[in-house]
Amino acid sequence: MKRLTAYALFLALLLSGCGASADPDTAQESIQVIAMDTAMLITTYGERSVPAAYAAEDCIRDLEAKLSRTIEDSEVSRLNAAGGEPVEIGEDLWELLDLARSYSDYTGGAFDITIAPVVSAWGFTEDSFQVPFPATVKKLLMLVDMTSVSQSPYPLTGEGPLTASLGPGQEIDLGGIAKGYAADKLVEVFKEHACPRALAQLGGNVLAYGGRPDGTPWRVGIQDPARPDDKNAFAGVLELTDAFAVTSGGYQRYFEQDGKTYHHIIDPATGYPADSGLTSVTVVADCETPEGYRTGTMCDAFSTALFVMGEEKALDLWRSWTAPAFELVLVTEDGRVVVTGGLKDRFTPDESSGYAYETVS
Ligand code: AMP
Ligand code: MG
Repeated sequence: MKRLTAYALFLALLLSGCGASADPDTAQESIQVIAMDTAMLITTYGERSVPAAYAAEDCIRDLEAKLSRTIEDSEVSRLNAAGGEPVEIGEDLWELLDLARSYSDYTGGAFDITIAPVVSAWGFTEDSFQVPFPATVKKLLMLVDMTSVSQSPYPLTGEGPLTASLGPGQEIDLGGIAKGYAADKLVEVFKEHACPRALAQLGGNVLAYGGRPDGTPWRVGIQDPARPDDKNAFAGVLELTDAFAVTSGGYQRYFEQDGKTYHHIIDPATGYPADSGLTSVTVVADCETPEGYRTGTMCDAFSTALFVMGEEKALDLWRSWTAPAFELVLVTEDGRVVVTGGLKDRFTPDESSGYAYETVS
C-alpha cells in the first residue's frame, strides 16, 4: 500500500479547479488512502495542508496495523488467535474495546464486535461470500457475547501493561466502529498541524472539519440506497461544519445468491443480515464537544446498530439520548426519508429522488 501521489495530484486539481496554490488561504492537498478495506479521500487546506494530509495518512495506517482482522500480526489478530488468554494491547485498542462495550449496552446488543465469527461465516471477511448452513449460524451465535470480553483497568499511574482477553472461541471485528475512531483521531491530527479545514471521506464515514474555504458549510450527499451504482443519486444533502456524518447501509457491501441479496450488517439476534425495514442510516454529530467525546466513534457504532434496530427503536434511542447530541437521516424500504428535528436547517431533500420526506421531533 503506497501513497497514490499521481492520482492524488489529479484529484487535487479536480477539487481546486485550478491546481494547488502557494497562497496560504487557498493551498490544499488531496490524497487517496486505501486502508481499512476502503478507498479513502482526504483533502486538507491551508498553509500546512501537505504535512497535515500525510500525517492523516500515517494516523490511518497506524490504526489499521493495530486494528485489522486480516493483518496477521495486528493487535486484534493476536487477540483473536489467543484462545481466551490475555494479550497485551495498546491504548487505541483498549479504548475501542471500552467504547464498543458501551455501545453494545446502549443498543441492547444490536452493536456487538464479537459478531466476527458470524461475519466470517457469511464470507464478508475474506470476500468469499456464501450463505452458511442454519446450524452453523446457530452454533456461531453462541460465541456472540460482549460480556465475555474483558480488559485490564486503565492504569491511572501509567504503570503496568494494558491487556484484554476474549472468551474461548470468540473473535472480534472492529469493521463497524474503527473508521469512526480513525475520524476522531484525524480531528486531533488536524489540530496538531494547525490545519483550519479538511474534508475526510473514510468510506461511509465523513468528517467535515471547519467549513469550506469560502466560509460556507461542506455539502455532503447521502447516497440513495436504491441507486447505489449512481454516485450522483442522493436521498438528500447535508450542510455540515465541524461535524461527522456516518452512513451504514446494506447497499454498501452485499452479494447475491439464488436471486436473493445478502448484506454485511448482521443482526446479532439472528445471525442473518439485518432486515429491519431500513435501507440506510446516517448519524450526524458535532466533532467538537465540550466534554471531548469521541463522537466519530459514536456515529459509526450507532449507524451500524440503528440499521439493525429499525426505525422505531432508532427514534426511541434518539429521543432518550442525552449527550453528546446526534441526529439521524433514515431511509426506509417503503420509500420514506425520516429526518430528525436537529437537522431541519442542515438537510436538503432531493425532490427528484421520489422519496416522501418526514421530519420528526
Ligand atoms: P458499518 O459499515 O460501519 O455499518 O459496519 C459494517 C461492518 O461492521 C461489517 O462489515 C462487519 O465487519 C461489522 N458488523 C456487522 N454486523 C455488526 C454488528 N451487528 N455489530 C458490530 N459490527 C458489525
Ligand atoms: Mg458503523
